[in-house]
Amino acid sequence: MSDFVVGLTGGIGSGKTAVSERFQALGIDVVDADLGSRAVLDRGQPALEAIATHLGPDLLNENGCLNRAELRRRVFANAEERQWLEQLTRPLIGAWLQEQLRQASSPYAMVVNPLLIETGHHRICQRVLVIDALESTQLERTMRRDGNDEAQVRSIMAAQTSRQQRLAAADDVIVNDGTLGALDDPVRALHEKYLALAAK
Ligand code: ATP
Repeated sequence: MSDFVVGLTGGIGSGKTAVSERFQALGIDVVDADLGSRAVLDRGQPALEAIATHLGPDLLNENGCLNRAELRRRVFANAEERQWLEQLTRPLIGAWLQEQLRQASSPYAMVVNPLLIETGHHRICQRVLVIDALESTQLERTMRRDGNDEAQVRSIMAAQTSRQQRLAAADDVIVNDGTLGALDDPVRALHEKYLALAAK
């Protein structure tokens, strides 16, 4: 169990994965909240029963798996349903994160969550690291990676916390506006800093 947890966040395409992979390569246990949000909706999880009761049995396939595409469509079209789903899953994802962190054995651990601040999960972190990039850069990288059009990426960006709000919650910031290789030095410097803080 690592007592010192660094929460890593940033907007879509800012470079969270590129940065967290570098911490992982330095031996740090990294927990990905996106995996948690999938895990709590796996077959047999209690949240599925609640979803079928609340939104209808057609949300589950014959084999009992969640129809994720249909769920996305339903909550995207209806803000109230979206809120209901968030209220259902947020504590479950929080518990999943805590369990993963309990198993972490590196000197400090890292939680990667695009919605770290929105979900309040930054409160379980000793330190918040924000990956910052210009919105035009986020847009360009995400479109290139996912083949999405500009409107799709912009609608996701609009649903996320603003860059200013994110930066206001940051203890540390990595500006990812250069090459991928340019991430190595700031990651190493922060790693040294977190090791020192965690050892206190
Ligand atoms: P998401 O929120 O969508 O999961 P993310 O914040 O994890 O995104 P990454 O997946 O790390 O972002 O980066 C988005 C894309 O941009 C990837 O294809 C990645 O390889 C690329 N990328 C990230 N940083 C840089 C950089 N400095 N130079 C060039 N390409 C980059």
